Amino acid sequence: MPWFKRVEKGIHTPTEEKKETPDGLWYKCPECKTVTSMAEHRKHLYTCVKCDYHARVGSNEYFAILFDDNEFTELDENMTSADPLNFTDSKPYPQRVTATQKKTGLKDAVRTAYGKINGQDLTIACMDFAYIGGSMGSVVGEKIARAIDHARKNRTPFLMISKSGGARMMEAGFSLMQMAKTSAKLALLAEEKLPYVSLLTDPTTGGVTASYAMLGDFNIAEPGALIGFAGPRVIKETIGKDLPKGFQSAEFVLEHGFLDFIVDRKQLKQRLSDLFGILHAEEETVSVKSKEKKATSKAS
Ligand SMILES: [Zn+2]
Repeated sequence: MPWFKRVEKGIHTPTEEKKETPDGLWYKCPECKTVTSMAEHRKHLYTCVKCDYHARVGSNEYFAILFDDNEFTELDENMTSADPLNFTDSKPYPQRVTATQKKTGLKDAVRTAYGKINGQDLTIACMDFAYIGGSMGSVVGEKIARAIDHARKNRTPFLMISKSGGARMMEAGFSLMQMAKTSAKLALLAEEKLPYVSLLTDPTTGGVTASYAMLGDFNIAEPGALIGFAGPRVIKETIGKDLPKGFQSAEFVLEHGFLDFIVDRKQLKQRLSDLFGILHAEEETVSVKSKEKKATSKAS
């Protein structure tokens, strides 16, 4: 006699009632297939313990990694997209916006905030790839522009963390205008001698690469990040040649002179605060020197 007997035939569990294995207990590295616990993965700032593969993370994680005690004040947190073109692809744009907001808990593809990193003031704009591929629409451009204004007003350095597929198709020309707008704001920041560091993370492409992501006083990147303007397939078809190995990886882009350095996420906070510290000291020396100069020219 069997231990268990099926007394009822044809038991069906509807999909919505099926219990899933709890998500996020284990992490499997897509590069080297090493499995670690999620807690361990988080402790390593979402980089692989074995091969150092940097998993994609969003603004929540970057803010937690960078801001002291994860304390920060968010700017323009409720700004959302309008639909200036009445755009419809597979669904109307406003519907896509609402659905994406619900799914991701984000209002748009960038979050901006200010706070302290290792005790120094900093304004950060950080993109989220989960929100329509980190596409740059008018909200992204406007929030970045306002974050730069915040940095100018409060005389803090500015850090941009890019992660984007490029311009947002649903806002067409309005997206492209953001390139000029953010670039102009960065020019004002530079005029006011405030440092701008641009961190390119996987992936940074399209109009974002062609504007603010490449305009830093320092352009830096995470290891292995895909960085480019057009995608490799398009380029291959255009030039009709095979592309070199590692094409458009952060390491390739560094070797060809477009980046200043590559930084491991585990050293990111320290490297950035060292860099801002040096730039700040430099600024003070320069202003002291110019004051001395004025004083001597008055005296002579
Ligand atoms: Zn790995």
